[in-house]
Amino acid sequence: MDCSPLSASSKAVAIEILVHGAQSRTRLANRMGLSAATLTRLVRPLLEAGVLVESDAVRTPGRGRSSLPLDVVPDRYRFIGVKLTTESIYAVVTDLRAKILEREVVAIRSLRVPDVVAAVSAIVDVFQSHSDLPVDAVGVTVGGQVEAGEIVADSPFLNWHAVPFRALLREELGTPVHLDNDVVGLTQAQHWFGYGKGYENFALLTVGAGIGYGLVVNNTVVPTLVSPISHYPVDPAGPLCPLGHRGCMTAYLASDSIISAVSVGHGRLIGYDEVLEMAKADDPIASRVVSEAARALGRTASAISSLTGVELIILSGEGVHLAEVAQSSVEQGLIEYDVPRGPNSECVVRPMTFFEWARGAAAIAIQAEFPG
Ligand SMILES: [Zn+2]
Repeated sequence: MDCSPLSASSKAVAIEILVHGAQSRTRLANRMGLSAATLTRLVRPLLEAGVLVESDAVRTPGRGRSSLPLDVVPDRYRFIGVKLTTESIYAVVTDLRAKILEREVVAIRSLRVPDVVAAVSAIVDVFQSHSDLPVDAVGVTVGGQVEAGEIVADSPFLNWHAVPFRALLREELGTPVHLDNDVVGLTQAQHWFGYGKGYENFALLTVGAGIGYGLVVNNTVVPTLVSPISHYPVDPAGPLCPLGHRGCMTAYLASDSIISAVSVGHGRLIGYDEVLEMAKADDPIASRVVSEAARALGRTASAISSLTGVELIILSGEGVHLAEVAQSSVEQGLIEYDVPRGPNSECVVRPMTFFEWARGAAAIAIQAEFPG
């Protein structure tokens, strides 16, 4: 990418086009509330740097210059997104608009930091061997707390503490590397390229091995700590979480909590997917555990709505099929403390695979690098 400094206003124009697609100068000026003259001044350095192009200049040479749509050239860029789970590394190659071009999943044999660095490096090498284009940047996300984009401060899933993961990867890969929390990455991907596109304010609530919470306010991702939503109190008479809280989100919704509650009831170990199947088939124990978890999810979504006023709440995460199995219980939790005046947040269930999380990691790299 070009290294000449771009003003914040020019960058905003480039991001507007990246996110919302090719636009004429007239439409762009209207959308951004800019005069034609100001827009021309802001666009010029972007054209000179090759960040933007006049998109159909070749096909319709007769038309006036000002009517030509401006666009980015997504295919000129390559980003790699990597999402680490305890069992596997999910990796994708994307273009500038986070469109997935290639994907790979590799089992993790060891969670030792040098082994994971080597495994990520091997995947990046394979991807690079498939393309003539250099990789612009690699984004990596992990579950847990990430400090200043540099250090995995605490990841209970990986059992990592104070690991300077970005610098270690940067040294190994030799390309720019960006590191963040996995829910932050997924939120960023939804914000620019996914279900949150077009919303100035939305939240993402994920359930699975852990509970995640992402928040966008005024088109900006707000830093949300991992632990407060994980242990958000839902019901003081609820089940216990590993930290000794009664009725927190983890106690109700973490996969292990659901698995152990149903397994204890039946006296045998029962996996998460089987729990959901049993709930669908009206098994009394699974139905009870799943419906109570779904109600807790609805209550927490309702709290997010009350506290933030976001227009949209996206429910996702690998455990979110629970919200489809027990949809009426989610609804109950959502409306339990309603007041007779609205409007409330729209709440939607959007299952996403771990490749979507890897795309979130790529989005972290795109956001950091574009438009240079
Ligand atoms: Zn707790």
